[in-house]
Amino acid sequence: MRQSSLVVVANRLPVDNSVAPDGACEWRRSPGGLVSALHPLLKHTPATWIGWAGGTGPAPALPDVDGVRLHTVPLTPEDFRDHYEGFANATLWPLYHDAVEQPEHHRRWWEAYQRVNRRFAEAAAAVTEPGGVVWVQDYHLQLVPALLRDLRPDLRIGFFLHVPFPPPELFMQLPRRAELLRGILGADLVGFQRAQAAHNFAQLVAKVFGVPATDRQIEVDGRTVRVGAFPVSIDTAEMAALAARPDVVARAERLRNDLGSPENVILSVDRMDYTKGIEHRLKAYSELIASGHVKVRDTVMVQVAVPSRERVGQYQILRDRVEREVGRINGEFGRVGEPAIHYLTQPFDRAELAALYRMADVMAVTPLRDGMNLVAKEYVAARVDDSGTLLLSEFAGAAAELPEAYQVNPHDLEGLKQGLLAALEADPEDAATRMRAMREHLHRYDIRSWVRSYLSTLDETVSAPTG
Ligand code: UDP
Repeated sequence: MRQSSLVVVANRLPVDNSVAPDGACEWRRSPGGLVSALHPLLKHTPATWIGWAGGTGPAPALPDVDGVRLHTVPLTPEDFRDHYEGFANATLWPLYHDAVEQPEHHRRWWEAYQRVNRRFAEAAAAVTEPGGVVWVQDYHLQLVPALLRDLRPDLRIGFFLHVPFPPPELFMQLPRRAELLRGILGADLVGFQRAQAAHNFAQLVAKVFGVPATDRQIEVDGRTVRVGAFPVSIDTAEMAALAARPDVVARAERLRNDLGSPENVILSVDRMDYTKGIEHRLKAYSELIASGHVKVRDTVMVQVAVPSRERVGQYQILRDRVEREVGRINGEFGRVGEPAIHYLTQPFDRAELAALYRMADVMAVTPLRDGMNLVAKEYVAARVDDSGTLLLSEFAGAAAELPEAYQVNPHDLEGLKQGLLAALEADPEDAATRMRAMREHLHRYDIRSWVRSYLSTLDETVSAPTG
């Protein structure tokens, strides 16, 4: 077995679903662009990425991609149902997002979660060089750090949670809460998107185990676990370059023409998920049309809502509700050739997204809770001429970094409507000042700086006994 000194462990491999018949595969534009960020590092380090390739058959052997070894972990249909759709996405996902939908608890799901986490930990133990670094990603794999430490105490282990970490009172609902926390505490460094999440985690650990815990470090089992906020970012320069490409600029103009050259275009791009606040936004928008504050002739809304996790009941119900509401709004307020909302469920590639971002005067990103929200950052990066306004939920991780956005509480319908109007009617000079400040922030804090800052902090951690 070939071994690497740097190993990334994530639920998914960073490659496309589709592997060509000749075995060739491309880097997938995975959310967050972790792959492109790791690239400069990987040139010097033989790295391995461990993950699931999609599908529930035997794990395919994949060739290296750009020098990175891909190590596939198989999931059976039962693993997919009980680990991925069940414990990860019907227990943890809603629980970690403020329980905006009711988390479900099933013992069979927990067993599958343990089983699959063990499989990933064993894979990591097998492919990491003595003394190497393993970086475990996200809520699907929270037991991996401790399982891996048992198997390989010589390794330096990092864990990063891409989603929010809930307040202790909510987390305490979880039947296997102590076991889950123990899993995470196997890491030398536990990273979160926001300082609030690090605080929630430390408070919880102190409460459950009665050990000394601050927002920066926790003492447990004679070890020190470092804790911190490392807000994930995007490849800002790449998005800016894409948005400035002549074909993308031309495409943005055509899209705007196709919309009937309205005065204002409002855009939202979400995965179809109950955390994204799509229904709240539609309600705010339809009330603004009904009250005459927004005229369908002058203002057009484009809502991209890409279906996900479609076999999970709550997602089916949400899609039905959103589609009924879009139909109602268009039926009530649209005219022939002039719908109030352009609703699209197809996924778009990077260039088309960049064209949409360039076309939109207002980007409405109003999740009820979101770990970061990369779409908000991508929109800012794409506004290379400093025009456009970002309407941003204060419950998105990005809000902590982008105070210049028009921030709203999406639960407050009146506040949401006023925020939308303020973003639509913004003074262009003020809007440009805000956009410039946000763009500068994202050029400084891009995905590369995120990887550097996380891995250099992990490098500083000393897992020597403290006692
Ligand atoms: N995205 C995409 N095509 C689409 C819609 C979204 O490639 O049609 C990408 C988008 O550019 C972003 C990611 O999907 O990078 C969504 O990340 P975000 O953090 O906004 O939300 P998540 O889906 O991770 O909850």
